[in-house]
Amino acid sequence: MRNLIVILGDQLTLDNPALQAFDPSQDHIVMAEVMQESTHVWSHKQRITLFLSAMRHFADTLQARHFPLTYFKLDAHDHPDLAAVWQAMLQQHKPDVLRVCEPGDWRVLQALQTTAKKHHVALEILQDTHYMCSIPQFQRWAERQKNTSLRMENFYRGMRKKYKLLMKGDAPAGGDWNYDKENRQHLGKDGPQKLEPPLRFVPDPLTLSVIALVKKRFPEHPGQLDEFPWPVTRPQALKLLTHFIAEKLPQFGTYQDAMWQDSPYLWHSLLASALNLKLLNPREVIDAAEQAYQQGLAPLASVEGFIRQILGWREFVRGVYWLEMPALKSANFFKHQRDLPTWFWTGQTQMQCLSQCIGQTLETGYAHHIQRLMVIGLFSTLAGLSPQQVADWFLAVYVDAVEWVELPNVAGMALYANGGRFTSKPYVASGAYIQRMSNYCAHCRYDPKLKIGDAACPFTTLYWAFLIKHESLLAENQRTRLMVQHVAKMTASEQSAIKVFARQRLKQIEQL
Ligand code: FAD
Ligand code: SF4
Repeated sequence: MRNLIVILGDQLTLDNPALQAFDPSQDHIVMAEVMQESTHVWSHKQRITLFLSAMRHFADTLQARHFPLTYFKLDAHDHPDLAAVWQAMLQQHKPDVLRVCEPGDWRVLQALQTTAKKHHVALEILQDTHYMCSIPQFQRWAERQKNTSLRMENFYRGMRKKYKLLMKGDAPAGGDWNYDKENRQHLGKDGPQKLEPPLRFVPDPLTLSVIALVKKRFPEHPGQLDEFPWPVTRPQALKLLTHFIAEKLPQFGTYQDAMWQDSPYLWHSLLASALNLKLLNPREVIDAAEQAYQQGLAPLASVEGFIRQILGWREFVRGVYWLEMPALKSANFFKHQRDLPTWFWTGQTQMQCLSQCIGQTLETGYAHHIQRLMVIGLFSTLAGLSPQQVADWFLAVYVDAVEWVELPNVAGMALYANGGRFTSKPYVASGAYIQRMSNYCAHCRYDPKLKIGDAACPFTTLYWAFLIKHESLLAENQRTRLMVQHVAKMTASEQSAIKVFARQRLKQIEQL
């Protein structure tokens, strides 16, 4: 055999570079479902189903093209992990080359390298052409940055110019690079108006068989499978994209940061899982959004806001992941050690914002960006939760969770665990932020204005305790200097009362 080609569970595209120049008479493909990938974190049932169903659908696509493929179904073999599968295949086929597209996960890359070395087989790792910025390109960009902190905004402007997206000659369309300020509206008193329900998919027989398998093999894992609405094939993913562009994109920007009781999806695209499995290509998603702007179907602020997430943040965090691994995995700038409260796995907390965001996550495998960053991530920072436990939780519970995108967002952005390598400040705020951006506080037993007392909002108490504790660090930073000016105005006894109350709250974290 010439090439043994590994296709990983998040590489489900015929554009996979490992499949280019494929010769069925000399090459062979291997795909595998293994227990370790569903159990190394306590994976949500929706997430496991999504991966297995999408993989099996993609295997059908390959088989329809008569590509020689060995597919290991979870319930039909005993190999505990991917390395054991590759080992068996290498022993059986003795290929010249083990060929794979760049994996999305540092851990899998290590396993591939170790396996190839052990079996004295050449390992060919091909650059992943799905991304618009390759890992070496990002590394070169990072080396050119004068500041030791990397800024997404600088990276994003370079990408806009490189790909000539939303550009008028050398200038950004509309005159500004960034319409972030227009993208922070709350939903007022009336909540979401004229909100289209998201496009959901009915499971086909293949997905139904995976659902039955997941229910049987992972009964204790979080989540439910009464409904499974996610796209698992490229045609479904394309339908979701078309629906988003027509029905949601025009409002996406305006309400990008807003939250509302019992409205988990608002105007968000729900495209992340399809993008991360590579059922969709980022370029086609961006082009569809830009075209809607050119045709006058969506305003510039919305389209720019959406494109920034994909061309900017998504490419940027991937670059950062490969730059910072493996250190990012154990980063802990604030030395936070507290265990995750058990209600992270039940949603049963009296804090309405967390009960909503965690509750919907456990129910659906989804929360949008601000719910992840400014509710769950924010509480985790303020309460001093262990970044490693928080990251494992995020990797487990979201349908779109894959480590290259989850870890930089959790450890780097939400928790400031790598000391602000690519964020200009720690994302900390009091309950007032959540009150402004949602209606959660109106349904809560706590009051976001109060720092101390039985009714005091835990976010507000812990925010002030955080500012007091890190006053000098925050005073050094241009973007947080104003925050701590209020601390300087507090008397010593006020500060001490907050610190004492915050400690009490944290002692009773399970009851909050
Ligand atoms: P939309 O709001 O519709 O955004 C459009 C697209 O932009 C998304 O589909 C996604 O591909 C991209 N995007 C938006 N923000 C980011 C970002 N910060 N980083 C990378 N891509 C972005 N995204 C994941 O894909 N997987 C994760 O495991 C993940 N974990 C996160 C953890 C935390 C703590 C935070 C703050 C963010 C995380 N994100 C993650 C980014 C973002 O929250 C999700 O991509 C988004 O909520 C998915 O929903 P959507 O498809 O409706 O996105
Ligand atoms: Fe969350 Fe505090 Fe508002 Fe309650 S009062 S919903 S805990 S921010």
